[in-house]
Amino acid sequence: LDGVSPKLVKKAADARGPAIMALADVGDFEDARTLLAMGADVVSLRGADLEFVQWLAGAMTEYDSLSGWCNAPKHICAGGDLRGLAFCCPPVKSCAVFGALKRAGLTPEEYVNRKIAAARGTPLEKGEGTCFGSLVWCCKIGKPCYLRDEALARADLSEREYMELKKKLAEKILPKIH
Ligand code: SF4
Ligand code: SF4
Repeated sequence: LDGVSPKLVKKAADARGPAIMALADVGDFEDARTLLAMGADVVSLRGADLEFVQWLAGAMTEYDSLSGWCNAPKHICAGGDLRGLAFCCPPVKSCAVFGALKRAGLTPEEYVNRKIAAARGTPLEKGEGTCFGSLVWCCKIGKPCYLRDEALARADLSEREYMELKKKLAEKILPKIH
Protein backbone atom coordinates (compact mmCIF):
# COMPACT_ATOMS: atom_id res chain seq x y z
CA LEU A 1 0.00 0.00 0.00
CA ASP A 2 1.44 3.36 -1.01
CA GLY A 3 0.54 6.05 1.54
CA VAL A 4 -0.46 5.71 5.20
CA SER A 5 0.48 2.41 6.86
CA PRO A 6 -2.29 0.21 8.30
CA LYS A 7 -0.43 0.23 11.67
CA LEU A 8 -0.59 4.02 11.79
CA VAL A 9 -4.32 3.87 11.05
CA LYS A 10 -4.73 1.48 13.98
CA LYS A 11 -2.81 3.83 16.27
CA ALA A 12 -5.05 6.74 15.28
CA ALA A 13 -8.19 4.61 15.61
CA ASP A 14 -7.19 3.49 19.11
CA ALA A 15 -6.82 7.13 20.18
CA ARG A 16 -10.64 7.25 19.76
CA GLY A 17 -10.50 10.76 18.36
CA PRO A 18 -12.37 12.19 15.37
CA ALA A 19 -13.17 10.06 12.32
CA ILE A 20 -10.09 8.96 10.37
CA MET A 21 -9.60 9.39 6.66
CA ALA A 22 -6.80 7.16 5.35
CA LEU A 23 -4.91 8.72 2.45
CA ALA A 24 -3.27 6.01 0.38
CA ASP A 25 -3.09 4.69 -3.14
CA VAL A 26 -5.91 2.17 -2.86
CA GLY A 27 -5.48 -0.07 -5.87
CA ASP A 28 -7.87 -2.91 -5.15
CA PHE A 29 -10.47 -4.33 -2.79
CA GLU A 30 -7.87 -5.79 -0.37
CA ASP A 31 -6.09 -2.43 0.04
CA ALA A 32 -9.36 -0.74 1.00
CA ARG A 33 -10.39 -3.60 3.29
CA THR A 34 -7.01 -3.56 5.08
CA LEU A 35 -7.28 0.15 5.92
CA LEU A 36 -10.92 -0.10 7.00
CA ALA A 37 -10.18 -3.19 9.08
CA MET A 38 -7.50 -1.25 10.98
CA GLY A 39 -10.07 1.35 12.01
CA ALA A 40 -10.16 3.90 9.17
CA ASP A 41 -13.63 5.42 8.76
CA VAL A 42 -13.02 6.59 5.21
CA VAL A 43 -10.43 5.78 2.54
CA SER A 44 -9.43 8.34 -0.05
CA LEU A 45 -9.30 7.05 -3.61
CA ARG A 46 -7.00 9.75 -4.93
CA GLY A 47 -6.31 9.45 -8.61
CA ALA A 48 -8.79 6.60 -9.05
CA ASP A 49 -11.09 6.62 -12.07
CA LEU A 50 -14.87 6.74 -11.69
CA GLU A 51 -15.36 3.16 -12.84
CA PHE A 52 -13.04 1.81 -10.13
CA VAL A 53 -14.71 3.97 -7.46
CA GLN A 54 -18.15 2.66 -8.42
CA TRP A 55 -16.91 -0.93 -8.54
CA LEU A 56 -15.21 -0.65 -5.12
CA ALA A 57 -18.28 0.97 -3.50
CA GLY A 58 -20.47 -1.85 -4.85
CA ALA A 59 -17.99 -4.56 -3.76
CA MET A 60 -17.80 -3.08 -0.24
CA THR A 61 -21.59 -2.90 0.07
CA GLU A 62 -21.93 -6.50 -1.06
CA TYR A 63 -19.16 -7.68 1.26
CA ASP A 64 -20.84 -5.90 4.18
CA SER A 65 -24.19 -7.57 3.53
CA LEU A 66 -22.53 -10.99 3.17
CA SER A 67 -20.13 -10.74 6.09
CA GLY A 68 -22.13 -8.63 8.55
CA TRP A 69 -19.11 -6.46 9.38
CA CYS A 70 -17.07 -5.50 6.33
CA ASN A 71 -14.34 -3.71 8.27
CA ALA A 72 -14.22 -6.14 11.19
CA PRO A 73 -10.93 -5.78 13.07
CA LYS A 74 -8.46 -8.57 13.78
CA HIS A 75 -8.27 -10.08 17.25
CA ILE A 76 -6.42 -7.78 19.67
CA CYS A 77 -3.59 -10.32 20.04
CA ALA A 78 -3.23 -10.40 16.25
CA GLY A 79 -2.75 -6.63 16.03
CA GLY A 80 -6.37 -5.49 15.73
CA ASP A 81 -7.60 -2.07 16.85
CA LEU A 82 -9.72 -1.60 19.97
CA ARG A 83 -12.93 -2.73 18.26
CA GLY A 84 -11.32 -6.18 18.47
CA LEU A 85 -12.32 -6.22 22.17
CA ALA A 86 -15.63 -7.57 20.84
CA PHE A 87 -13.79 -10.85 20.17
CA CYS A 88 -11.80 -10.94 23.41
CA CYS A 89 -12.06 -13.45 26.22
CA PRO A 90 -12.68 -12.37 29.82
CA PRO A 91 -9.45 -10.93 31.27
CA VAL A 92 -8.42 -14.08 33.08
CA LYS A 93 -4.90 -14.67 31.76
CA SER A 94 -1.96 -12.46 30.99
CA CYS A 95 -2.39 -11.35 27.38
CA ALA A 96 -2.75 -8.33 25.11
CA VAL A 97 -6.26 -7.57 26.35
CA PHE A 98 -4.87 -5.70 29.37
CA GLY A 99 -2.89 -3.27 27.21
CA ALA A 100 -5.93 -2.76 25.00
CA LEU A 101 -8.15 -2.03 28.00
CA LYS A 102 -5.65 0.53 29.23
CA ARG A 103 -5.71 2.25 25.82
CA ALA A 104 -9.51 2.15 25.88
CA GLY A 105 -9.60 3.68 29.37
CA LEU A 106 -11.50 0.73 30.81
CA THR A 107 -10.70 -1.32 33.88
CA PRO A 108 -11.00 -5.10 33.47
CA GLU A 109 -14.15 -4.97 35.65
CA GLU A 110 -15.72 -2.24 33.54
CA TYR A 111 -14.95 -4.22 30.39
CA VAL A 112 -16.58 -7.37 31.77
CA ASN A 113 -19.62 -5.44 33.02
CA ARG A 114 -20.03 -3.53 29.76
CA LYS A 115 -19.84 -6.68 27.67
CA ILE A 116 -22.35 -8.53 29.82
CA ALA A 117 -24.72 -5.55 29.87
CA ALA A 118 -24.43 -5.03 26.09
CA ALA A 119 -25.20 -8.67 25.36
CA ARG A 120 -28.16 -8.86 27.74
CA GLY A 121 -31.31 -9.88 25.92
CA THR A 122 -29.44 -10.60 22.66
CA PRO A 123 -28.54 -14.01 21.19
CA LEU A 124 -24.90 -13.40 22.21
CA GLU A 125 -25.91 -14.28 25.76
CA LYS A 126 -26.27 -17.87 24.62
CA GLY A 127 -23.28 -20.09 24.07
CA GLU A 128 -23.46 -23.15 26.25
CA GLY A 129 -20.48 -25.39 25.53
CA THR A 130 -18.17 -22.54 24.44
CA CYS A 131 -14.98 -21.68 26.36
CA PHE A 132 -16.68 -19.09 28.57
CA GLY A 133 -20.32 -20.17 28.32
CA SER A 134 -21.45 -17.20 26.20
CA LEU A 135 -20.97 -16.08 22.62
CA VAL A 136 -20.18 -12.62 23.95
CA TRP A 137 -16.63 -13.88 24.65
CA CYS A 138 -16.25 -15.81 21.42
CA CYS A 139 -13.75 -15.30 18.61
CA LYS A 140 -14.16 -13.80 15.17
CA ILE A 141 -16.00 -15.97 12.69
CA GLY A 142 -12.84 -16.39 10.60
CA LYS A 143 -11.23 -18.34 13.44
CA PRO A 144 -12.38 -21.94 12.99
CA CYS A 145 -14.12 -23.27 16.11
CA TYR A 146 -16.64 -26.08 16.17
CA LEU A 147 -17.76 -25.21 19.73
CA ARG A 148 -18.84 -21.73 18.66
CA ASP A 149 -20.33 -23.01 15.42
CA GLU A 150 -22.43 -25.54 17.32
CA ALA A 151 -23.59 -22.79 19.70
CA LEU A 152 -24.49 -20.60 16.73
CA ALA A 153 -26.50 -23.42 15.20
CA ARG A 154 -28.35 -24.00 18.49
CA ALA A 155 -29.10 -20.26 18.75
CA ASP A 156 -30.23 -20.28 15.10
CA LEU A 157 -27.73 -17.55 14.27
CA SER A 158 -26.01 -17.28 10.90
CA GLU A 159 -22.34 -16.26 10.64
CA ARG A 160 -23.44 -12.91 9.22
CA GLU A 161 -25.89 -12.29 12.09
CA TYR A 162 -23.18 -13.23 14.60
CA MET A 163 -20.78 -10.69 13.10
CA GLU A 164 -23.50 -8.01 13.01
CA LEU A 165 -24.07 -8.57 16.72
CA LYS A 166 -20.31 -8.37 17.40
CA LYS A 167 -20.20 -5.07 15.51
CA LYS A 168 -22.97 -3.65 17.72
CA LEU A 169 -21.17 -5.05 20.75
CA ALA A 170 -17.96 -3.19 19.84
CA GLU A 171 -19.94 0.06 19.48
CA LYS A 172 -21.54 -0.42 22.89
CA ILE A 173 -18.47 -1.39 24.89
CA LEU A 174 -16.03 1.27 23.70
CA PRO A 175 -16.29 4.58 25.55
CA LYS A 176 -17.36 7.37 23.22
CA ILE A 177 -14.84 10.18 23.02
CA HIS A 178 -16.11 11.79 19.83
S1 SF4 B 1 -8.42 -11.86 25.54
FE1 SF4 B 1 -8.22 -13.55 24.06
S2 SF4 B 1 -8.57 -12.62 22.03
FE2 SF4 B 1 -8.18 -10.94 23.48
S3 SF4 B 1 -6.00 -10.52 23.31
FE3 SF4 B 1 -6.23 -12.03 24.98
S4 SF4 B 1 -6.02 -14.04 24.01
FE4 SF4 B 1 -6.36 -12.53 22.37
S1 SF4 C 1 -15.44 -21.48 22.03
FE1 SF4 C 1 -14.17 -21.16 20.21
S2 SF4 C 1 -14.80 -19.16 19.45
FE2 SF4 C 1 -15.52 -19.31 21.57
S3 SF4 C 1 -13.86 -18.41 22.82
FE3 SF4 C 1 -13.49 -20.63 22.70
S4 SF4 C 1 -12.09 -20.86 20.95
FE4 SF4 C 1 -13.02 -18.83 20.77
